[in-house]
Amino acid sequence: AFLDRIEAVDGRVHAFLHVDAEGALATARQVDADRAAGRALGPLAGVPVAVKDIVVTKGLPTTAASKILEGWIPPYDATIVARLKAAGMPILGKTNLDEFAMGSSTEYSAFGVTRNPWDLNRIPGGSGGGSAAAVAARMAPLAIGTDTGGSIRQPGAVTGTVGGKPTYGGTSRYGLIAFSSSLDTPGPVARTMLDAALLHEVIAGHDPRDSTSIPQPVPPVSAAARQGAEGDLTGVRLGMVREFGGDGAEPAVLAAYQAGVEALVKLGAEIVEVSCPHFEYALPAYYLIAPSECSSNLARFDSVRYGLRVGDDGSRSLEEVMSATREAGFGPEVKRRIILGTYALSSGYVDEYYGQAQKVRTLITRDFEAAFAKVDALISPTTPFAAFEFGARTSDPYQMYLADLYTIPSNLSGGPAVSVPVGLADGLPAGLQVMAPTMRDDVAYRVGAALE
Ligand code: GLN
Repeated sequence: AFLDRIEAVDGRVHAFLHVDAEGALATARQVDADRAAGRALGPLAGVPVAVKDIVVTKGLPTTAASKILEGWIPPYDATIVARLKAAGMPILGKTNLDEFAMGSSTEYSAFGVTRNPWDLNRIPGGSGGGSAAAVAARMAPLAIGTDTGGSIRQPGAVTGTVGGKPTYGGTSRYGLIAFSSSLDTPGPVARTMLDAALLHEVIAGHDPRDSTSIPQPVPPVSAAARQGAEGDLTGVRLGMVREFGGDGAEPAVLAAYQAGVEALVKLGAEIVEVSCPHFEYALPAYYLIAPSECSSNLARFDSVRYGLRVGDDGSRSLEEVMSATREAGFGPEVKRRIILGTYALSSGYVDEYYGQAQKVRTLITRDFEAAFAKVDALISPTTPFAAFEFGARTSDPYQMYLADLYTIPSNLSGGPAVSVPVGLADGLPAGLQVMAPTMRDDVAYRVGAALE
């Protein structure tokens, strides 16, 4: 049914870069056979899933939406993909994204934009616009995203889907094409908090192949989503961040958020104002740390080891071939970040830029710790604006970067956060974000599920 739906609507939405009908059906048949044979099956066996095309899949093209990786077929599975397969989940295909997950609209994909199913003239968010649009258009019941600065939650908010960013280190990065290694976090995209929680539990948990993976039990997120769905938040204290005053946010988005806050109060939650004075520096700190780490990570695309090679006709030096390949293979936003990151890490500037940003990161983490001494979770709008029209924010990079104003603090601290749909803003979906302490993903799921 999902493959039929993809066939019927993806020509208009373009959520998928690659569909693997045969592979998905083979897994589905295997699950049927296992069921018939009375073998034990996990809770999501047979439930299809779409995977963001920055996560490597053995035998299936993986491009990170970049020309530089076009034609590359990975020889191995990411840990999270291996876990999807072990759970009997058919993989429908690979979803579109901003090139190397750098962007907030999926307009920076080298293979064309994804359209928001709510309005085909508008962006589906980014970088994981393909995963969010696939779920929103009912082409997949579940999808995998990656969140470095908001790329699961922001697309969730603008497509009316649920997006969960697990605690950093709670889900394995092994087999994610690295963007910013100290921030990259894979997680679930779904229609409901409970669906997201069940997928979270399939992919999460310690992985010895990822040096920053946390060797602790997975937080009980599905139990928390079920508890939340009972609709009682008595005794739960939620903090609204004073510094997220809403300057520059769209009034209709703030109104949808405000209605969500009132609903939380009706469910028994106590809302208090808290101060996180360093949150206003999160965006500039992120836009030094993420490009710095990206400039180092993307050095591996050297025209020799993977994908594209340009100008290798025997007359050019290795450096000339490398340079021609990168010139042709990387898009403008990726080049901008590599240049910025290389500069920020260069001798003489590294302390002034990267070092300062890391200090700001520590201050933001301390703001969270101080807030969580007073409240169970923090809430905010997920995004300052609803889905915008194509082209509206591509001429000025800063306008695009603003999309992640509210999502970036929890990337910098590493704490978990979810986005849950909270009604419509002028006919377009809006999201409410719940941020919880590190390894307390369950708190975020409980509050999110109560709001549904
Ligand atoms: N929009 C942010 C950026 O461009 C976040 C991307 C992400 O989370 N992958 O870096």
